[in-house]
Amino acid sequence: MRGFRLFVALILAVFAAPAAMAGQDQVQPDVTVSGVIAGKDAQTYREIPFNVPAGVERITVALSYDKSNKTVIDLGVWDPRQFRGWSGGSYDKVTIAASDATPGYLPGPIPAGRWHVQFGVPNARPNSSAAYKVKVYFDRGTATRASAAIANPPLNDRPGWYRGDLHMHDANSDGSCKSQLGRKVPCPLFRTVEAASASGLDFIAVTDHNTVAHFDDLRELQPWFDKMLLIPGVEVTTFRGHTNIFGPSRFVDFRVGTPGVPNLPALQNSIAAAGAIMSINHPASPSGEICMGCGWLWTDTDWSQVTAVEAVNGTHVEGAYAGLGFWYARLNEGKRLTGIGGSDTHDPDGPSRIGRPTTVVYADSLSVPGITAGIKRGNVFIDTEGTRDRLLEMAVVSGGRRAVMGERLRPDATLSMELRLAAVRGAAVEVIANGKALAGLGSTIDSDDARMKVSLDRAQACGWISANVRGKAGLLLIGNPVYIDCR
Ligand SMILES: [Zn+2]
Ligand SMILES: [Zn+2]
Repeated sequence: MRGFRLFVALILAVFAAPAAMAGQDQVQPDVTVSGVIAGKDAQTYREIPFNVPAGVERITVALSYDKSNKTVIDLGVWDPRQFRGWSGGSYDKVTIAASDATPGYLPGPIPAGRWHVQFGVPNARPNSSAAYKVKVYFDRGTATRASAAIANPPLNDRPGWYRGDLHMHDANSDGSCKSQLGRKVPCPLFRTVEAASASGLDFIAVTDHNTVAHFDDLRELQPWFDKMLLIPGVEVTTFRGHTNIFGPSRFVDFRVGTPGVPNLPALQNSIAAAGAIMSINHPASPSGEICMGCGWLWTDTDWSQVTAVEAVNGTHVEGAYAGLGFWYARLNEGKRLTGIGGSDTHDPDGPSRIGRPTTVVYADSLSVPGITAGIKRGNVFIDTEGTRDRLLEMAVVSGGRRAVMGERLRPDATLSMELRLAAVRGAAVEVIANGKALAGLGSTIDSDDARMKVSLDRAQACGWISANVRGKAGLLLIGNPVYIDCR
């Protein structure tokens, strides 16, 4: 029976792989208009009308045409009332939403009604004829996210470990840095992103408090930062706790206790409806007049809608203000939550450094959907010092089955943990079972690319187990759990 299942799994994998790679080809346009630009159209304008139904939150337009005879089509967009942008011959894909738009286009509400794509034709040779195709894609909340595939293709479509910082602030909330004259000023987003890029990170999430005003600038910066993914994020900041959300398609009303958001589950529903995942920030911080609502005080949390916990915030790795104990306590309650880290940098030139800690995510691609899905799956570890090369791969094997971090395993009588550890020579492995380090199982790592196998006691492992790496100064790497289901 097991052999048959494996065969089925392999078949599924073969069929699933091309579908996962397809992305752009899979998304069908809502409107397609084809036509021809002839020589007589030179130095004229042409309108391509299309109807936008109610409920559309983002419009993405893609233009392709035959350029072989030096025909040039300039591109612009009007909504039913007014101008929404012009990009001449610069872009063949443009996107417009309330929070952000392709540079040259104006973000703002998407009214239903008759929009049009505006062509200008600076050049078409006499007697020439150039076929064109305009495709228009509508995003309606999370039901369709055409923009992710069309306007934001992955920076890298290879699966692998990607290193990033999931928490920082800039001038769009309370981030600051030194001006030209050395004054403390609101820190421009560009300075923050540049500092992150200098850290060699693969991705960052910019998480200003309660606003989406930075999304438009992130969209402008992304083509220039074409090695580092810029994830739109928000630190949803309430009076009783802070939570980062990654990848929302729109503003999320944070005002818990007002009619539109009567309680925390209502906030969580709107986070999910915006297509974002939720991570509870610095949950063990004290809450009071120094930092109001910094600890997590909500008692009506819907844990099924929480993806992650910020186990490490800045340099708080262990001790009273660290989130590790809070995370482990929730895992001990049977919740499945990915432990992540975030620097919470408010000044890229200050003592807290972007990338310390770094969260390392195994993802299908370097894209917003790729990284958020990777965090959800939980094959993730935290590099507390934010190095570029430390690695913690962990799997639990039993009875021919193998589960990596974030996965569930039903064990046989015997089980063991397999580890691959890079760039941590001289440090020691700590095996954690249900929040406690197992005595006597630690061993010193004797190579820069070490592979180890640790036998585990079934009774101790039931629940969840993980592996951490400890150096002289403290925890260097914090792994995510494999869930051991002994029922
Ligand atoms: Zn906070
Ligand atoms: Zn913060």
